[in-house]
Amino acid sequence: MAEVYLGLGSNLGDRRAHLRYALDRLSQAQCQIVKVSSLYETEPVDSPGPERYLNAVAHVETQLSPRDLMSLLLAIEAERGRVRQTRNEARTLDLDILLYGAEVIEEDGLTVPHPRLHERAFVLIPLLEVSPDLRHPALATPINKLPGQASGDSTVNQIEQNWWRP
Ligand code: AMP
Repeated sequence: MAEVYLGLGSNLGDRRAHLRYALDRLSQAQCQIVKVSSLYETEPVDSPGPERYLNAVAHVETQLSPRDLMSLLLAIEAERGRVRQTRNEARTLDLDILLYGAEVIEEDGLTVPHPRLHERAFVLIPLLEVSPDLRHPALATPINKLPGQASGDSTVNQIEQNWWRP
């Protein structure tokens, strides 16, 4: 069983419903949800979306391989009407594999740890809330020492705890 951390984001439509849908679908598809972070509202980074993002991080346990998990995430995004036209466009649902155990994977279409994990406060802050003692396996650094982790970052606001129940 792999210990996996997933990033969830939405800045289009019913953002909370999209994130809930993703967690419900994951738990019906060989992913056990261990813990979900609070809900955070965050300023878009590099994307001129109509709205701020809602972001969260989920710790899940799964027997799916990294590749099968990636396919599942893309399928769930598509079910929520995600359309990919331009880079960094507004999105109903964005699902990322942040960490897959301590694995370091560099394949076509799959990079784990997520390549921008270490520089994004909107990922690092919820990730540290869920699991404060994680290490970044590629950088061999504790996640709480990464430079992108600016706690108190004014662009990342915790808005709701305990928002997801199975
Ligand atoms: P985007 O949703 O725009 O962030 O890009 C998703 C694409 O990035 C997918 O088609 C994946 O194949 C690729 N990708 C590579 N590594 C990852 C990862 N760790 N998590 C999510 N998507 C990834």
